[in-house]
Amino acid sequence: MPTSSYQNFELQPLAGHWRAGQSERKLQVVNPFNQENLLELNLATKEDLDESFIAAREAQKSWALMAPAARAAIMLKAVAIFDQRHDEIVEWIIAESGSTRIKAQIEWGAARAITLEAASFPSRVHGFILPNDIPGKESRVYRKPLGVVGVISPWNFPLHLTQRSVAPALALGNAVVIKPASDTPVTGGLLIARIFEEAGLPAGVLSVVVGSGAEIGDTFVEHPVPSFISFTGSSEVGRNIGRLACGGKYLKHVALELGGNSPFVVLADANVELAVNAAVVGKFLHQGQICMAINRIIVEQPLVEEFTRRYTERVKALPYGDPSKADTVVGPVINAKQLQGLLQKIETAKAEGAKVLVGGDPQGNVLPPHVFGNVTAGMEIAREEIFGPLVGIQAARDEQHALQLANQSEYGLSSAVFSGSLERGVRFAQGIHAGMTHVNDMPVNDAPNAAFGGEKSSGLGRFNGEWAIAEFTTDHWITVQHEPRRYPF
Ligand code: NAP
Ligand code: MG
Repeated sequence: MPTSSYQNFELQPLAGHWRAGQSERKLQVVNPFNQENLLELNLATKEDLDESFIAAREAQKSWALMAPAARAAIMLKAVAIFDQRHDEIVEWIIAESGSTRIKAQIEWGAARAITLEAASFPSRVHGFILPNDIPGKESRVYRKPLGVVGVISPWNFPLHLTQRSVAPALALGNAVVIKPASDTPVTGGLLIARIFEEAGLPAGVLSVVVGSGAEIGDTFVEHPVPSFISFTGSSEVGRNIGRLACGGKYLKHVALELGGNSPFVVLADANVELAVNAAVVGKFLHQGQICMAINRIIVEQPLVEEFTRRYTERVKALPYGDPSKADTVVGPVINAKQLQGLLQKIETAKAEGAKVLVGGDPQGNVLPPHVFGNVTAGMEIAREEIFGPLVGIQAARDEQHALQLANQSEYGLSSAVFSGSLERGVRFAQGIHAGMTHVNDMPVNDAPNAAFGGEKSSGLGRFNGEWAIAEFTTDHWITVQHEPRRYPF
């Protein structure tokens, strides 16, 4: 059982020691719902970052040589700590990221699940022996860790979106340096480092550098040590990271998990009740601050009226407010800046002719759920990623039009379609240009063994299962010429 509770996150694990960041400047971490000051810590400097990467490079060598079973055992111990410290972890997620209890529970479960999945990676990773036409030649492909992986993560699902890179990277023999989002340094990094330290991870293999992305982001990405940058966040920052990491001086591996604009399509033969239930959760879980969240509801004409009536009835009844209360469904958005952006989107939607079907004024950072009718594809709330508790309903003339609307986006992360005919749903899904589509379910889905990622402006690369094994390793082709080779000259 845990011997101490998870408190005192003023220090950071930097290059093998928990110590304060060397900057004079402090970061205040506040509860987004009640503005309570959770902690204050000194920011890390570029020197802290440099020391962490160099220590990681050293520590990685012996870490990668540890027996696969020993690395797996540390992952399994981490899973056990997730269980033992379940309540503390959930409370931190609620307090630091404004998550409802429901969402915090889901996030705990997802982070635990990817850690358990990663425990299988040390024994699952394998090379190949390939046939070869040259007499006497043996052709082998070795799989190796990349070395040091830099992870930059966002504030919305900080524990899970950090852990889904960190656990596979470590399990496969890499060392890791995390830069968590400034809104969530604890759940996005420091707490993960505590869990792995308690699980027996050797010092220096994992560092957490708490600093502002705008200030130390470029240095982090351009540091010569990390050969892989795994970034989850906005498309704007992701594009810049792609340019820095492999668009010029450096040619690093990158994984970019970026923004989304998920369409939720209801075809005319759909079961309206099931579609409404999915669209309520798929939009309002974590107040819509999920990259896979429903951003556009597209309904085939015959069902528009019924769907809209039943959906707005359900949404009007959603409890919003204090996220720590068990029945709250919509809690605060992460900070006042995000709230301002959402209020601006509401004004623009009204000015562009969308009709407010459900609305209300914010209380603190809590924005009540909003539903708009009469939305068309050209409006801002349809074109842009919302990342908040707002959604518009668009009408489609027929199935073909619904598909055209669904694909009318620069993004291609997740998507969903409801139909009374499952195979019709699958055919429709195959027409969507996205990394993920769910038939008769919401677009918000993640499974530790299934390919997670996007197309178009939603990014590059895939997480989870065998895709993570491929991402967090590299291949080395080695041949052995067993007998003298006959050359052509
Ligand atoms: P963001 O501004 O891109 O921030 C994400 C991370 O990048 C944070 O750690 C941030 O640090 C850091 N960062 C900011 N500027 C940087 C720079 N110039 N160089 C390096 N790092 C930098 O995104 P956000 O506002 O936190 O999150 C919302 C966005 O993330 C949405 O667009 C959402 O769709 C996307 N997202 C995608 C996924 C996915 O799996 N595809 C998941 C979650 C979120 P600071 O906090 O210090 O600025
Ligand atoms: Mg940002």
